[in-house]
Amino acid sequence: EETEPVEEVRPQSPIKPMTATEVKVNVSIPEAAERAAATGADGVGLLRTEHMILSLNQTPAKFIEENGEDAYITELVDGIRSVADEFYPRPVRVRTLDAPTDEFRQLEGGANEPEEHNPMLGYRGIRRSLDRPEVFAHELEAFRRLYEMGYDNVEIMFPLINDAEDVLRAKELMKEAGIDPKKRRWGAMIETPASALSVDGMAEAGIDFASFGTNDLTQYTLAVDRNNENVADRFDELHPAVLRLIGDVIETCREHGVDTSICGQAGSKPKMVRFLVNEGIGSISANIDAVRDVQHEVKRVEQKLLLDSVR
Ligand code: PEP
Ligand code: MG
Repeated sequence: EETEPVEEVRPQSPIKPMTATEVKVNVSIPEAAERAAATGADGVGLLRTEHMILSLNQTPAKFIEENGEDAYITELVDGIRSVADEFYPRPVRVRTLDAPTDEFRQLEGGANEPEEHNPMLGYRGIRRSLDRPEVFAHELEAFRRLYEMGYDNVEIMFPLINDAEDVLRAKELMKEAGIDPKKRRWGAMIETPASALSVDGMAEAGIDFASFGTNDLTQYTLAVDRNNENVADRFDELHPAVLRLIGDVIETCREHGVDTSICGQAGSKPKMVRFLVNEGIGSISANIDAVRDVQHEVKRVEQKLLLDSVR
């Protein structure tokens, strides 16, 4: 996933260009942190926590049963911390656990997981977290400990949010875990059409940022399974319907003072970069191997916008 090639490669200077739009990097495994930081990215736009958990080869419930809650929390703290250290003081946006049940089912203890016909439409992301607050509390405790250690560059991002109600419930659990939502930067992924159409309410609920998960937003908007090769040619992140949702969210967020970003694969593609910078997105998070190309593409678009504005 980290190595998907960009569409075009143009000759470019090895020097990092200065841009108004921030260019960040996606990190899926803590071991990639050093390489990610060396790109000169302005931060981590998406740190996935799934690998930290799935690599334990046991479901969280099984792992906790055998090793205790504290060991589970420590796994998360250590994984996140290694990335937060590498980037400090650049911000690191950490996404809470977002594994579908079919992935949990492959782990030891997975037989207790629900068997679902449509895992991607099922019990995952914030839905699962809100349904099992006692398990989610361990993740939030990991964040609380990181803040206590001084990692004020850590931000919290909630996956598969649908509306303001999801945001408010997640915010309440943050508070219960001893995290002050007014003091920390936190936000929601925009990866369902419902979330894109509800972002005004989510802004009122207090999010600091909205981040486009275009892998899922495309899948759900077009009803095209992102993992189904039979319809792979229909998976188009630049489909006008997807772009319309994205453009509207950026505009609404601007009105509400909410920061916008993208952390889906499409952020590594030049055409999407051109669209997003034109729309005025705040930051773009790209795959490690695409960061430098994206930085230069952003620079070109920003220069063109500037020239157009004085012509
Ligand atoms: C996305 O949906 O675009 C995203 C970044 O999340 P994931 O690929 O992990 O579902
Ligand atoms: Mg997603």
